[in-house]
Amino acid sequence: MPESRSVAAAVCPFCLSPQVGLLSGAGKWHVHCRSCGASGPAADTDLEALARWSKASDSRQLLRTVMDESPSIILIKDVHGRFLLANKTLARLYNTTPEQMIGKTDADFIDNPEQVRAFRESQLEVMKSDRTEVVEEDVTDAVSGETRRFYSVKKALRLGVHAEPAMLIIARDITDLIQAYHEIEVRERRYEEALAIAGEGIWDWHIGTNMVSHNRKWCELLGLDENALQHPLEFFSGLIHPDDRDGVMHSLQGCLAGGDPYDHEHRLIHADGHVIWVHDRGNLVERDEQGLPLRMVGSLSDITARKCAELQLAEVRSELEQANAQLEDMVEQRTAELVDLNLELQSLARHDPLTGLANRLAADEYLTREFAMMKRSGQPYVVMLADIDHFKQINDSHGHMIGDRALKHIASLFRENLRETDFIARFGGEEFLLILGFSRCEDALSLAEGIRRLVEVTPLADDIPMTISIGMAQALPDDSGMAAAVERADAQLYLAKGSGRNRVCCPCE
Ligand code: GH3
Ligand code: MG
Ligand code: MG
Repeated sequence: MPESRSVAAAVCPFCLSPQVGLLSGAGKWHVHCRSCGASGPAADTDLEALARWSKASDSRQLLRTVMDESPSIILIKDVHGRFLLANKTLARLYNTTPEQMIGKTDADFIDNPEQVRAFRESQLEVMKSDRTEVVEEDVTDAVSGETRRFYSVKKALRLGVHAEPAMLIIARDITDLIQAYHEIEVRERRYEEALAIAGEGIWDWHIGTNMVSHNRKWCELLGLDENALQHPLEFFSGLIHPDDRDGVMHSLQGCLAGGDPYDHEHRLIHADGHVIWVHDRGNLVERDEQGLPLRMVGSLSDITARKCAELQLAEVRSELEQANAQLEDMVEQRTAELVDLNLELQSLARHDPLTGLANRLAADEYLTREFAMMKRSGQPYVVMLADIDHFKQINDSHGHMIGDRALKHIASLFRENLRETDFIARFGGEEFLLILGFSRCEDALSLAEGIRRLVEVTPLADDIPMTISIGMAQALPDDSGMAAAVERADAQLYLAKGSGRNRVCCPCE
């Protein structure tokens, strides 16, 4: 019969109950807590057993403290579901103390019978299977009434001398963790949805790792599959049109160095080889403590249509400019031609085609100018009318062609023997007007006489003698108009004809 004694000095380190006793069996002593069933080390004598229990108690007290301070729930239950050990974390949840829990079951603390039953079934299962099970389960907080989620490790144990089945449960409240996880999950999903529906390609460059992440739209724009959702920066630079690569990198470097945000229009090569134009924008969103760039985020939009239209417009504009320049050249050339033509027309309109002398129109214009000048300066001029004598006879005797040659012959004689400054015109059929500027009749008379004589001694041919009659007049500032002097000269010519021809008549004679 084993001897049993109460030992008041010993306190159970598990349930802190003083109800421990000494038990003897098979010649060995061991300590046993009547309250929670915990057993102490076996020894040859009761004193030795007590000493060991006491020594063990110290380290168990330490263990007890660790258990109570643990944020996890730690408990041991016997086969009947009674608490053999409960730490403070569990006691707080059940709104009680660890000591109060010993010997009681979940039903003493949980109002929800469904939950109590579920706990019991799960625990019996573990004890029966004798293995460790990891489960997630809900426990109701007795104070707040809130349901908390626990991650529980349940392990079957054998306790006491009779090795009764028991169970250790270590459970961690993961409610807040799950909540945080869900929040992150929701946020990430929203972010992904936002990226997916964004009309633009989004990129996110982690500068430290040199990896770039994208949304699907970015891959779509470049005809890439989802394998390209993440890639090293070099992959991106390989997509840039070779002519634009330096510009893009320069712009990116400028932004990294703290300059303006990255904003660049360039060409990228689509997966099927064709070129697309994009507008790429981004900026730094994260730096380290030293201010070095860590992350850059941006967006990419396809501007191919706009760029093509711009290029076409520039081409059309350049073609138009070219055509315009050509047109301007042509207009300039034509204008110059027209000016020349006009001058020629003006010249033709004022010249006699047969003799090349000024015609009647040019003579009238010249007279108008001379008259106006005389009115201003008071400087007189002399008007002479020279008419070929019996010209009709030349025509009649030698033909019209010879008549023409005779006209040209007289014109040449006048041209060659008058001064540069004198004006000569064919005034009518075989009548010539001569204007001698800054002259008076007295001075011009000898000149007129010289011409008359010259014609007389210079026949067109031996059998075609020619003479002229000249009527002269002095233009005067008092004249009513330029025609007055011409009329006076005509009157003198009439006199010359009437008095025998081949002579000069002048009022001053
Ligand atoms: P007068 O001494 O009185 O001046 O006699 P005229 O014969 O010279 O004068 P008239 O007025 O009777 O005749 C002028 C002639 O000049 C008539 C016309 O046929 C001729 N004539 C006028 N213009 C030209 C021309 O361009 N060429 C030629 N061949 N003859 C012309
Ligand atoms: Mg005549
Ligand atoms: Mg005449």
